[in-house]
Amino acid sequence: MAQNDVFGDALKRLDAAATVMNGTVHPETIARLRVPKQFLEVSIPVRMDDGSLRVFTGYRCRFDDTRGPAKGGIRFHQDVSQSEVKALAFWMTFKCAVAGLPFGGGKGGVIVDPYTLSHAELERLSRGYMKAIAHHVGQDLDVPAPDVNTNATIMAWMSDEYNRVMNRIEPGVITGKPVAMGGSLGRDDATARGGYYILKELERELGWDPKKQTRTVAIQGFGNAGEHFARLAHADGYKIVAISDHRGAVINPTGLDIAHHIKHKHETGKVEPLTPEGRHSDNTELLAMDVDLLVPAAIENVITSANASNVKAKVILELANGPINPEADAILNSKKTMVIPDILANSGGVTVSYFEWTQNKSGFYWTIEDVHQRLAERMRREFNAVYHLHKAKSVDMRTAAYAHALKRIADAMEGMGTAKLFSTKR
Ligand code: NAD
Repeated sequence: MAQNDVFGDALKRLDAAATVMNGTVHPETIARLRVPKQFLEVSIPVRMDDGSLRVFTGYRCRFDDTRGPAKGGIRFHQDVSQSEVKALAFWMTFKCAVAGLPFGGGKGGVIVDPYTLSHAELERLSRGYMKAIAHHVGQDLDVPAPDVNTNATIMAWMSDEYNRVMNRIEPGVITGKPVAMGGSLGRDDATARGGYYILKELERELGWDPKKQTRTVAIQGFGNAGEHFARLAHADGYKIVAISDHRGAVINPTGLDIAHHIKHKHETGKVEPLTPEGRHSDNTELLAMDVDLLVPAAIENVITSANASNVKAKVILELANGPINPEADAILNSKKTMVIPDILANSGGVTVSYFEWTQNKSGFYWTIEDVHQRLAERMRREFNAVYHLHKAKSVDMRTAAYAHALKRIADAMEGMGTAKLFSTKR
């Protein structure tokens, strides 16, 4: 997809949500949400190990902060573009609103293939980026986090750099830090666990009983999101019939031994058949399997107009960001496939980031049980709100999720008055 389309697609979701809200959202709100509040471009000179100097380009977008400080990750990738950063910041605005977090949306990125850098170069780049954006982020302004190709160590470098530049210790400036530096317990499996709590609600709505061990699940991607989701669903009795990574898939219609596959992946880095019943396959077959639940947990745009009509799953839970493009969405809707959209399905990650920020600000740290209980409560509440809107308005779950989020953003923006207020006499 052309990069420019990324933000265009985001705006299509906004228009669809506004239609559902049927005139209750003021046009001024929609006009404000079509443009980011702030978009920053920075240059980051980095001294390389061989003595040469490379100048990298980085971005930080604060899309909206009406509901609270902006929140959103930092991506290190060679394909990072202004349009992509803007679209991702827009999505974060809606994700934080759908999850009911007191945050707006932001995103950042650096154009770089981080795998070409040494550890020392990566540290200099991370610190250089934070130095360049330091006066535009902060625990009460804009709170970054990890995204594609960035991790807890990179967050630790950035957090340390921010403290140096600002001459104060402010752990809440960034989330996804190592636990020893103020990270939250439970962040590692938060995205999968949030999706799992949604699955528990779906079971009730759809009358599924996983204990009977007949409900089947196919999971694309066996990284942080996919692996933890497989573990949690399998423990409840779901039959995980397929898992995959970027190299290919493993299929076993009688159900895979997930603990064994996790151990094998940690030891060898591979997802491959471990028993005679399991066979090698590919992601194309996995996505078309006749299963109760399909969980894309790898990358974006894996279900498009080219393969959407082959999808046979009854329900799709989008743990990945943007795995289904708008054309495919229309095809799946016409087939009555239920899609739990990314902004709701994977919001467990940003919710535990919110818990990290809250703990940093208060200086009081929670137990893992506190984290799980509070995450479960929030996922249940927001899933049910979206589900009821989906039923009440007879719209798909994605449109309902955007409408639910838009209502919250509109309430905040319109709380400061619209043309209706300002055009009347006092
Ligand atoms: P990860 O890097 O830990 O794992 C990604 C997995 O996808 C790996 O198994 C990889 O082999 C596989 N993969 C990569 N390219 C593939 C391809 N072309 N086909 C099939 N599989 C492929 O990443 P993650 O953190 O698990 O994130 C996965 C998705 O979930 C991403 O879309 C990410 O944006 C989204 N997400 C993650 C989090 C989080 O907290 N980790 C939060 C919100 C959203």
